[in-house]
Amino acid sequence: MIITKLNLEDSLPLTCTRAGTCCHGKTVFLNPWELANIANEKKLTVTKFAETYCEWGGIKLKFDGDSQFKNQSACSQYIENFGCSVHLGRPLACRLYPLGRQIQHEKAQYIHQGKEFPCLASCPDVVELPKMTVEEYLQDQSTKTYESGQDLYLEVMQQLADIAFELYLDSGLADSGNRETLVQWEKLGELSPEELPKTIRTDWLIALTFPDIEEVKNPEVFIHTHANTLFTKSQTEFGSIQTMKELETASILTMAIALQLARSIGANPKELSEHWVKTAKKHL
Ligand code: SF4
Repeated sequence: MIITKLNLEDSLPLTCTRAGTCCHGKTVFLNPWELANIANEKKLTVTKFAETYCEWGGIKLKFDGDSQFKNQSACSQYIENFGCSVHLGRPLACRLYPLGRQIQHEKAQYIHQGKEFPCLASCPDVVELPKMTVEEYLQDQSTKTYESGQDLYLEVMQQLADIAFELYLDSGLADSGNRETLVQWEKLGELSPEELPKTIRTDWLIALTFPDIEEVKNPEVFIHTHANTLFTKSQTEFGSIQTMKELETASILTMAIALQLARSIGANPKELSEHWVKTAKKHL
């Protein structure tokens, strides 16, 4: 796949107002705040929304709508002849589309995938639309808050991985000769999106995906509260661990949680787990 990197001043045909063709056959992830936000917009509890409209443990929107476009089913939130039923609460992926975003050297880089322009295959006339700069488009779609949320969760993910490292490297577990933990870290990265959440204990999966936080409108407050809840839970549970077996279990569990969060923000769990195993091995 060809990835085209964009500058903020690049001008592209981003003025499409046609509701819907791009809401078919896509993969749309939700980080835990986006899930709470979209559920709020739908006026449902987070668990009810996830149960009804999400898969992969609540991190991906189902695309099982009745509407079809080129044999691809619509997003579960799409309404024929209307468009998005949760427009104000739509997640970052939808706000950015047809652009993507990746972090390189701690800086956001906007991209699009495809030789000329991603919408071309579905809507060839898109190139005739008036153009807009990338910067104008981001403003128009109000992406800023959603991008900050994504970046904050990236930090939480790294901090969770750090806890998994501490439980392995700083606890005496690695020094005891244990290598099974690293084998399991790597295996977690290879699990399918359906299998990975099943490896996470229910109370942790709830704490990760459905935190009980009322402040939904402010992602910064929501995510800081969420992170504190997760770190307090890990301190309470792992602080008094006595045996090597318990340390191994705790490290593997924390890595699974970090990888599940990683997938919800669009990162690749396989690449991450390989990278983290490699890093841990350097410290042995
Ligand atoms: S959430 Fe809304 S904008 Fe996003 S894919 Fe679904 S229907 Fe389309």
